[in-house]
Amino acid sequence: MTAPLIDPFQRAISYLRVSVTDRCDFRCVYCMSENMTFLPKKELLTLEELDRMCSAFITMGVEKLRITGGEPLVRKGIMTFFNSMTRHLDSGALRELTLTTNGSQLERFADDLYAAGVRRVNISLDTLDEKKFADITRWGRLPQVIKGIDAAQRAGLRVKINTVALKDFNEDELFSLVEWCRSRDMDLTFIEVMPMGDIGNEDRIDQYWKLSDLRARLAEEYTLTDLAERTGGPARYVQLEETGQKIGFITPLSHNFCESCNRVRLTCTGELFMCLGQDDMADLRPALRNNPGDDAPLREAIRDAISHKPKGHDFDYSRQDVSGRVTRHMSHTGG
Ligand code: SAM
Ligand code: SF4
Repeated sequence: MTAPLIDPFQRAISYLRVSVTDRCDFRCVYCMSENMTFLPKKELLTLEELDRMCSAFITMGVEKLRITGGEPLVRKGIMTFFNSMTRHLDSGALRELTLTTNGSQLERFADDLYAAGVRRVNISLDTLDEKKFADITRWGRLPQVIKGIDAAQRAGLRVKINTVALKDFNEDELFSLVEWCRSRDMDLTFIEVMPMGDIGNEDRIDQYWKLSDLRARLAEEYTLTDLAERTGGPARYVQLEETGQKIGFITPLSHNFCESCNRVRLTCTGELFMCLGQDDMADLRPALRNNPGDDAPLREAIRDAISHKPKGHDFDYSRQDVSGRVTRHMSHTGG
């Protein structure tokens, strides 16, 4: 174990999110355009390189690893990677290994993920209506995802549903989604749409449903108690007193959460983004590829990158134009 990673604002970096592929079997309208151009395969870090990267971060104090994408479970051989991370859970260096998925492949992978030491998964689902689901994901089918959720729960994985709050799309499903999650004992978190990447024709200002509005609507039916729980990220939680459910709100746009940020994001090509909302990044791949068998230069590159972690992001929907927009897609940096 080497010295922990501390950024210039005295924040300890203990959480790494890793995008293992930019590809996906869905084309959600807020995330991708219909005709995406993906990276050539040779640009991607191999599974062994991903292992080296993650292991380097873990020796430097990262305790939580979230695997994401694109859709992480469409990456060929991904279970080899999960299985190799199990050793860090066994040693105690890693406290949590988890993933964010669209759920489409979970029926196939849920048991293996549990066996690898995964205990919780975030599954993205924006509607319980089959037709609307097909519309919003373009290529996804709801029954397949429901089967994935069933399989995850059967395998013993704790499920949290992530729902992007979309104006005129799932506003009318607020209470049915809350009730559905209660009936299945799943946590639920709402996410505000972020201005990331060129997604074609959709207008993000039209898509934006303020979570303060959503929260106010929820408060008409339930008694909300704020929970002190913080994860170092943009999520805030409330408890619904009537049901005991925990509901999260991820509001990167309307709240400043940056002061407690404990995380960085690694892309599938080895670029390290110190902030989701900034274009500034460090390319760690040369330090990795040019030094096979020696991780010291990689650790040095990581430490140098963390010394440039910015104080916060600049997203702002308050003006008519979406300012602070970043050009890359969420699927590139990993949600
Ligand atoms: N494919 C996986 C999934 O959908 O869960 C993992 C990657 S996806 C990029 C991670 C999360 O980012 C999903 O919950 C998705 O809804 C969210 N997301 C994608 N684009 C977004 C955007 N522009 N604003 C807010 N959330 C977004
Ligand atoms: Fe794929 Fe996830 Fe993006 Fe939807 S949100 S297109 S499932 S990466």
